[in-house]
Amino acid sequence: APTSRVDKLLSSMAYGSRSEMARLAKAGGIVLDGVELADASARIAVTPDLPKRMQIDGEPLDPLQGMVILLHKPLGMTCSHKEDGPIVYDLLPKRWRGRDPAISTIGRLDKQTSGLLLMTDDGALLHRIISPKRHVEKTYRARLARPLTGNEAAVFASGRLMLEGEEKPLVPAGLEVMSPTEALLTVTEGRYHQVRRMFAAVGNHVEALHRERLGGLTLPDGLAAGQWRLLGTEEISLIF
Ligand code: URA
Repeated sequence: APTSRVDKLLSSMAYGSRSEMARLAKAGGIVLDGVELADASARIAVTPDLPKRMQIDGEPLDPLQGMVILLHKPLGMTCSHKEDGPIVYDLLPKRWRGRDPAISTIGRLDKQTSGLLLMTDDGALLHRIISPKRHVEKTYRARLARPLTGNEAAVFASGRLMLEGEEKPLVPAGLEVMSPTEALLTVTEGRYHQVRRMFAAVGNHVEALHRERLGGLTLPDGLAAGQWRLLGTEEISLIF
C-alpha cells in the first residue's frame, strides 16, 4: 500500500491545514488502531481498511481517495458548481467539498432530470465511463406530452438521426414503449439535453425524465430521491 504523512492525508480530505492536524494530533484527536497518534508528521500505510482503523475526533475517517458515489438525484438540483441554487454536491457531507482530488459528477443530468447519478474523485474512472468509445448504456424513462406514433423506435435505431445544430448523426439508440406516453430510451452517447432533443426531433416533448440505469447499475428501489451511498468494488465493476 502507498504511504502518506498523516497530516498530508488528512489535509487532502479537508480536515484542516497541516498545522491544524499537528495540533489535533497533540490533543489526542487522531487515533489509529486504538492508539492516539501524537505526531501528525508520521508516515502510515494507506490501506483500504484505514477508515475502519482510524478515528478523527472520535469519528471514523472519511472514505479514502477512489470513492464512487451512487446518488438518486432529485429534481431541481443542478450538477454544476457554477450555477446558483441547489446543487447535487449539497447532498454530500460538507467536508467532502474541500477534498483534493475533488469529487465530481460522472456526466451530468439536467436540473429537471431525476435518477441515477454517479460521482467520483477518481479521474481515470470518470473518463472511462464518459468516453464515447466505451459505449456505456444509459437508460432513461421519459414521460411524453403526446402519444407515441410508432415510428420513433425506427428513427432512434437508424443511426441517422440529426439533432438540430449538430453535424454528426446520433449513434443508434433503443426505445422500449411502456405506454402511449411513456418509454424507456437507451443511449450510449451523452450529448447536451440528448433525450429531450431526440423526442423533440420526432415532434414530441419530454415532460418528465428519470435515469434508471447506467451500464450494469440500476437505481436501487430503496434509495429515495436525495439519498446516496458508496459503491463497493464489485458494484463499480458492474458499470462496464
Ligand atoms: N438527456 C437529457 O435530455 N437530459 C438529461 O438530463 C440526460 C439525458
